[in-house]
Amino acid sequence: MTAPTHQEAHGGALGSRLNWLRAAVLGANDGIVSTAGIVVGVAGATESRSALLTAGLAGLLAGSMSMAAGEYVSVSTQRDSEVAALALEKRELREQPEAELQELTTLLEERGLSREVAREAAEQLTARDALRAHARVELGIDPDDLTNPWHAAWASFLAFTVGALLPLLAIVLPPAAWRLPVTVVSVLAALVLTGWTSSRLGSAGPERAVLRNVVGGALAMGVTYAAGSLLGAVGV
Ligand SMILES: [Zn+2]
Repeated sequence: MTAPTHQEAHGGALGSRLNWLRAAVLGANDGIVSTAGIVVGVAGATESRSALLTAGLAGLLAGSMSMAAGEYVSVSTQRDSEVAALALEKRELREQPEAELQELTTLLEERGLSREVAREAAEQLTARDALRAHARVELGIDPDDLTNPWHAAWASFLAFTVGALLPLLAIVLPPAAWRLPVTVVSVLAALVLTGWTSSRLGSAGPERAVLRNVVGGALAMGVTYAAGSLLGAVGV
């Protein structure tokens, strides 16, 4: 799962909201596939509902916490580098204000302003809040709204958990004979939905994304079911 970043210079609030949404859908997708693999594997070995519930819940918690921890680490690193870049920018503004004004003028020119207008805009932005102007135009970050590692960690935790609940409930709620069909059908249907949604939020065409997603999930369930059945048959 990838963290939403500030890579887009023009997308602004809408762009980063779509990034978040896409990350949430991909997180839910991870939760669906990995938990489905676990519970279908265990179902290959045993009919015990408590074994299925225990394995599924352990998978849900382990997966969501590992996603949250990974996200926390990666976003913290990103935030550290943003803070360091801002500190450097602050020093440059203090030590070489004229060069920084020139730099801002050039950046604005590259955005399509004429030389005179760019110079005028750079002077006004510098007079109002030089650091903020450089942060936004040069670094593409908002100094008052740095990415929050805790938010990112929570979002990953929740997204994975929501996805993981589907196969978990699908395997423990129905009567024994219906467990596998209900789980397989609902998981594949959910993967159609997440594959389609994430491709719509990105730029890829939906058909191939849906197909890859469904085949990936079906493979995960097929492999773990085969492994579970094998273990169940030899009586491990
Ligand atoms: Zn600068």
